Order: sequence, then C-alpha cells, then structure tokens
Amino acid sequence: MFLVGALTNLLYPPACLLCRAPLPDDRGAAGILCEACRRRMPRIEAPVCSRCGVGLRGSFDAQLLCSMCRATPLAFDLARSPWWYDGSAQEAIRQFKYARRWRIGRLLALEMAAAARSALPLDDVDAVLPVPLHWLKRRLKGFHPPAYLTHVIASALNKPYLSSALRRVRWTATQTALGWHQRFRNVDRAFAARGASVAGRSVLLVDDVLTSGATADACARTLKAAGARRVFLLTAARTPIR
Ligand SMILES: [Zn+2]
Ligand SMILES: [Zn+2]
Repeated sequence: MFLVGALTNLLYPPACLLCRAPLPDDRGAAGILCEACRRRMPRIEAPVCSRCGVGLRGSFDAQLLCSMCRATPLAFDLARSPWWYDGSAQEAIRQFKYARRWRIGRLLALEMAAAARSALPLDDVDAVLPVPLHWLKRRLKGFHPPAYLTHVIASALNKPYLSSALRRVRWTATQTALGWHQRFRNVDRAFAARGASVAGRSVLLVDDVLTSGATADACARTLKAAGARRVFLLTAARTPIR
C-alpha cells in the first residue's frame, strides 16, 4: 500500500484543489486545500445572530439578534453557516456547483456538519433534507448540489436523509437576477411538503448559499404548514444582510 501511495504521489503530486499549488507531504488526510486558500475562506466569527447565525457587526442588543431577525424573522427556527460567501469560500462553492468538483463539495459538507454539531441542537433533529430543485431542472442539469451536500452531512451526523418530503412544484426564475422583494414573491407557493414524512418532526434543511433567505423561508413555511415541529437551516455560506 505504501508503494502504491508513493507511486501515486510521484505521478500526481498532491496539489491544492482550488489553486493547484503543491501541498506538503505531511498535510494529513483532510488537507486538500493549501494554507493560503484556507486563510482566504472567511469564517463567520462570533458574535453571531442567535437566530440566523449572521456575523454581527457594530452594535447589537443583549439578545444577540440581527436587524432582520428583530424586524422580519424568517420561518426557520435557527440557521448557521461556517463561511461568508466571499474569497476562497465563494470560489470553492462555485467550483463545486458549476464544475462539479466532488472533493470540494465533500470538504464543504464536512465543515457544514462540524458547524451544525457546534451550533445547532442536533438532539432535536430527526432528519436532514435539501432545498429541492424542480424535477425538470434536475433532469436538465443532472446534478443537484444541495442534495449531494445533504448526503454527506446526513451520514456525518448519523441522521436519516429525507429525499422526497419536500418538492418544488412551481418552476421559478433563478433568484440571482432578482431584487430583494422579488425574491420572496418568486418562491411564494413554490414548494409542497409531504405531511406524513415531516409531521411532528424537526428537520435540518440544507442549501449551498443563503442570500436573501427567501427560498429557505418558503421551504420552512411549507414544512411547518405540513406539521414540522422545528426547521433548522444549514448552508455552506451566506452573504451579509443587506
Ligand atoms: Zn490553494
Ligand atoms: Zn439574524
């Protein structure tokens, strides 16, 4: 085995998955990114909003709530993300989503699972599920990044994966081109939940990036209307609150 490993290293010297810089031999099993890329993945540091997990800047009150959670709280109960959608975190997510770099996706998912372990009440999580894609879009793309993240996270957290509890029933325009309020209107009534699989249970919803929160809000609303007790949200990254 040692020889095979040595030969593989000779033929394919270990390189950073993002920037291709050579990696040191003693990097350990998890080291698939170089030091520089890791440093450019901006972690969301404390203090964070106690509800949605966004990093708080400037002044905040004793309840540690961001301006959005104070004024118009979204339908999920708690949300957390390890990174800001910026720097190498943004690059890693884009490489995973658009170039289908599975090993990067796996790295993201494992860090998301770690964030869930440290900041979410996992004892109260009965199952994990992805923000769904419309079946036709899924067929056209042949790939659903949040579903892949959810598989890795479910197995890392030892929770069941709920594959068909939530469906996207309406074809929606991509959110990226839309303004803040349009995003909420765009996903209104876009989802349907199967009551039998979520009633009375608490679920962890997984997506890649949290931007306005409109999609996650619509999913959480639908899940709760179908009887879900609590809905937690885990994303790889999020953008700052507008
Ligand atoms: Zn690198
Ligand atoms: Zn908040």
